[in-house]
Amino acid sequence: MMMDLIKKVAGYLASASDVVALTGAGVSVESGIPPFRGKGGVWERFDPMEYASIEAFEKDPAKVWRVLLSELKSLVDKAEPNSAHKGLVKLEKIGILKTVITQNVDGLHQKAGNTDVIEFHGNFAWHRCMKCDHRTDTQSLAPDQIPPKCHCGGIFRPECVFFGEMIPSEAMWRSRHVASHCDIMLVVGTSANVQPAAYMPVLAKNSGAKIIEINTEITPLTGHISDHILLGKAGEIMSLLITEIENCRQAESTIGRQC
Ligand code: NAD
Ligand code: ZN
Repeated sequence: MMMDLIKKVAGYLASASDVVALTGAGVSVESGIPPFRGKGGVWERFDPMEYASIEAFEKDPAKVWRVLLSELKSLVDKAEPNSAHKGLVKLEKIGILKTVITQNVDGLHQKAGNTDVIEFHGNFAWHRCMKCDHRTDTQSLAPDQIPPKCHCGGIFRPECVFFGEMIPSEAMWRSRHVASHCDIMLVVGTSANVQPAAYMPVLAKNSGAKIIEINTEITPLTGHISDHILLGKAGEIMSLLITEIENCRQAESTIGRQC
């Protein structure tokens, strides 16, 4: 059953040339970074409003930094791209995928080799002084100073988007543009609960694109915005898809058969 659907979706992808992927925390789970929601999610232990909102950060930056450093930095530092990230690179190399819009802050799509990655929620590799705007990377933060401070005495904040903050304007307008011009949107490992990211598949759908989800669970998009959901781990599903796409393209070039 699932293999039939994978073959069908591979056929759509093999003949597409303007695919956009929207990814969320689920794409990095097989790299050892837990998601926020769902089983094993960070929010089973921490209240998001107490740790992931701009109000919380401004009120007590040390408290938020402590959790960021213990829950995110150590994992991001040692994480490597998995088969899902690598599959998206393969799709770009063979001319099918144009852009990745990611809600993740871990930099793994770029590390894997995708060349057009829109970081919708910023990233955790860079930090900015809240007083003088000086930027620095994670590696140059003093490990024992919490919250990390700039030479001017100001406190560093990560270049991630906290709840209650605006999406960086270039990320927002470029995402809207690519979403409304793609022929297929792959929605991988996102619970589609965080706005305005979750609006991008709606925009793509309204502009005529097919929407394909890859997730271990159904989401609010399933069955009404998405045309199909491939249920399973992103890395495993993506590897199966790539094999089928390669079979399709080979069949097309040798015997002229369309998938
Ligand atoms: P989410 O945590 O709300 O949802 C994760 C989704 O991934 C769920 O739908 C879950 O069913 C699915 N999932 C879990 N394991 C999977 C797997 N192996 N394969 C496929 N799907 C899997 O994540 P979200 O929708 O991205 O929204 C939460 C916010 O949290 C994002 O804005 C993001 O910035 C941030 N976040 C980022 C990271 C990261 O950078 N890696 C990690 C945690 C949270
Ligand atoms: Zn400063």
